[in-house]
This record gives sequence, structure tokens and C-alpha cells, in this order.
Amino acid sequence: MSYKIETNCIQAGYTPKSGEPRVIPIIQSTTFKYETGEEMGKLFDLEAEGYFYSRLQNPTCDMVAAKIATLEGGSAAMLTSSGQAANFIAVFNICSCGDHIISSSQIYGGTFNLFSVTMKKMGIEVTFVSPDCTEEELNAAFKENTKLVFGETISNPSLCVLDIEMFAKTAHAHGVPLMIDNTFATPVNCRPIEWGADIVTHSTTKYMDGHAGTVGGVIVDSGKFDWDAHAEKYPGLTTPDDSYHGVVYTKKFGLEKAYITKATAQLMRDFGCGQAPMNAYMINLGLESLHVRMPRHCENAQKVAEFLENHPNVSWINYCGLKGNKYYDLAQKYMPNGSCGVISFGVKGGKEGASKFMSRLQLAAIVTHVADARTCVLHPATTTHRQMNDEELIEAGVTADLIRLSVGIENADDIIADIKQALEG
Ligand SMILES: *Cc1c(COP(=O)(O)O)cnc(C)c1O
Repeated sequence: MSYKIETNCIQAGYTPKSGEPRVIPIIQSTTFKYETGEEMGKLFDLEAEGYFYSRLQNPTCDMVAAKIATLEGGSAAMLTSSGQAANFIAVFNICSCGDHIISSSQIYGGTFNLFSVTMKKMGIEVTFVSPDCTEEELNAAFKENTKLVFGETISNPSLCVLDIEMFAKTAHAHGVPLMIDNTFATPVNCRPIEWGADIVTHSTTKYMDGHAGTVGGVIVDSGKFDWDAHAEKYPGLTTPDDSYHGVVYTKKFGLEKAYITKATAQLMRDFGCGQAPMNAYMINLGLESLHVRMPRHCENAQKVAEFLENHPNVSWINYCGLKGNKYYDLAQKYMPNGSCGVISFGVKGGKEGASKFMSRLQLAAIVTHVADARTCVLHPATTTHRQMNDEELIEAGVTADLIRLSVGIENADDIIADIKQALEG
């Protein structure tokens, strides 16, 4: 039977049989026992499905990953130890030294650094394009060795909304997949696969966990990208893997499972950045209420945004739920039920004004975090993005006075009262 997203937030990923635990159990075990060495050998050869060592795969993590795959409308998923690990593994699974990727310039600071510094050292070159680029401009960024296009549904912290359909269409015209980091929108508000995205990633640390308790990530494959049709670009999926006696992932596991199986069997084996079962259990608790929390985050953020928009001490505001916003129409198209709880704005007085405003807040806490139940604020230019120079900051859409406000699910009047006194103090 197929269910709506509210039901899947609660029920998907795990259906206990008679006498089994009702709730996803925490399988806190590094290893799994077999009767014969032969049986275990088959697992190592990818000849049989099963668990043998939690560095590669763990049942608790897989149940939670299966739930998220259902929420995103994907064919397979894997949990990772962080959102950073998710984006790294997602890219590295189909790229290697000598390859090129295209990314929206307006992305999370950590991902920007991963692409522009760390992956560059590994010989993977990135071209950044504006998320507002035209189809022609995007086309012009492709090279012979381009392997994927990357963007965020709603960028952190600049809050641009990506035209996913246009990006997908253009990527596909060049025979490469579109990868979307859907952290801010969550599958409750946007399901990028429905708009043509091929791979979706998340920092589950944010809304999915939703309580600032657990760092984590997830990679979801749509199962729709035809790796075999572009076999010369993706030899890792379409030619024999020597580390598994010559298995060809697309042949053996089909398009629906090839990408995630390779990421599990090869990259988790070699990098070991999987999620821990206890953390996966906590992410699942967050997922169960995701469809209740997201509408409240959006409702509160809308009220706060409307308050800020009309306040004389606020110099500018960016929230795609506001009618005059540059991204209002795109947000209505891709997220008709609401976008996210994150707002960015500038206060009069630039960097200094921002810092004074923040230190006067009482309910909203200054933290290096975003997208959880508690209202919080951050000044990206002096924290998450401080490794960037002024030019890079502008390219990333981060001005010196930008305050990122993550509106929680407390009472909206209390949140507004706190902001008001801090603005007027
Ligand atoms: C936080 C974040 C990440 C990184 O996730 P971690 O869980 O902190 O490693 C990646 N992308 C986006 C959009 C984020 O907000």
C-alpha cells in the first residue's frame, strides 16, 4: 500500500513481524554471526545480502535510511556520519581525479570548502555558477569531463531557491545527474526527485533530527539516472570493480541499487563514515514528527519575516515566503506549502549593528546551528564563512551584516517580542 508523507514519516522503513519490537530497534553491535565461513564469504563477495560489520552497514541505520528513501521518493539510501560526509561520498562515488563538477555558488560554507579546497586537492575541479543563472549560462559551464551538477533547494545561508527543473533538464542534456542538497526544505516541503533531481542529500543534523541532538547525513538515490547510457563517464559503476572480484554494479544490482551499493561496499568500507545505530534511532524520532514541525517552523518564520520587513531598524530581509522576495515565485512552484524556518536579514549599522543586536537577544540563542526546534541566530561572516575572503563572501551571497535567524517552534509572539526588544534596545 502507498501512504502519504505524514504516514510515511511515522511508518516507513520498518514493518515488524509478529513478536518483533514495535519501534525500530537499536542494533548496537559491530559484528554479526554466521554458521559457516562460506556464508560469510558470500557477503564479502556481494553474492548474498546481509550484515557483517557495522562500518559498512548496520540494520538500524538501514531502516532509517529506507524511511528517508520513501520520504524522498528514492530507490535506495544510506546514512552517513554527517551532512559533510553525505555530500563528499555522494560526489566521490561518481567522480575521481581528473573529473569536473558544476556547483551552485550559493551553498553551505562547509560544502563550498569541500568542493573548492579539499576536493581540488584530490584532483576534482569545480566550476561555480550562480543559482540564478540562465540555461545558456549553465550550459556554458559544462566540460568534457563534467560528472555532475550540484545545488541546494534553499541555500544555506543565502536562502536562494534553485530552479531544480531547469538545472535537471540541463544536466540531463549533458548526460550527467543533478545532485540536490535538500536539507532546508526537507521532503515534507519539497521532493527534488519529483522535479528531475537524481540524487538527494541531507544534513539530517538539521530539521530531520530537529532537536540539535545528533550530527548526521543521508544520501538518497532516485534510481532513475541511466549510468549505462553514459557508461564512459561512470566507469566505477559500469565496469568491473577489482576489489569485489570484478562485479559490475549496474549489471548486478540494477539502476535502482547500483549507486548506493557501490557507495556502501566501496566507500564506506574504505572511509568508514557511516552513522552509529544509536544516532540513527534518534534521527528516526525526529523524522516521526517532521511533518508536524515543518508547517509550524514555516508559519512562525512567516510571522517573524513580516514583522522584520516592517521594522525601521532592519535594512533588508530575505525570506522566500514574502511576496516581494526575488524567489517568491520559485518557492511557490517548488514549495507551495512553505519553505523553511530560516530567514536572513541585515540590521542597520552593518557588522557592528549585527553583533549588538545578537548580544541583546534573550530567547534566541547564538549557536553554530540552524533548523531545530529552538530559535537561534548566527553571523556567518564571522563564523561559518570566516575562512572566505570578501570576494568569496559576496559570491556565496553572504554580506557582512547578514544575520541568519532560524525560527523555532516556540510561540511566535514570544519570538517576535525578543527580536523587537533586541532591535530597539
Ligand atoms: C549543515 C549543512 C551541511 C553539513 O552538514 P553537517 O551535518 O553539519 O555535516 C550540508 N549542507 C547543508 C545545506 C547544511 O545546512
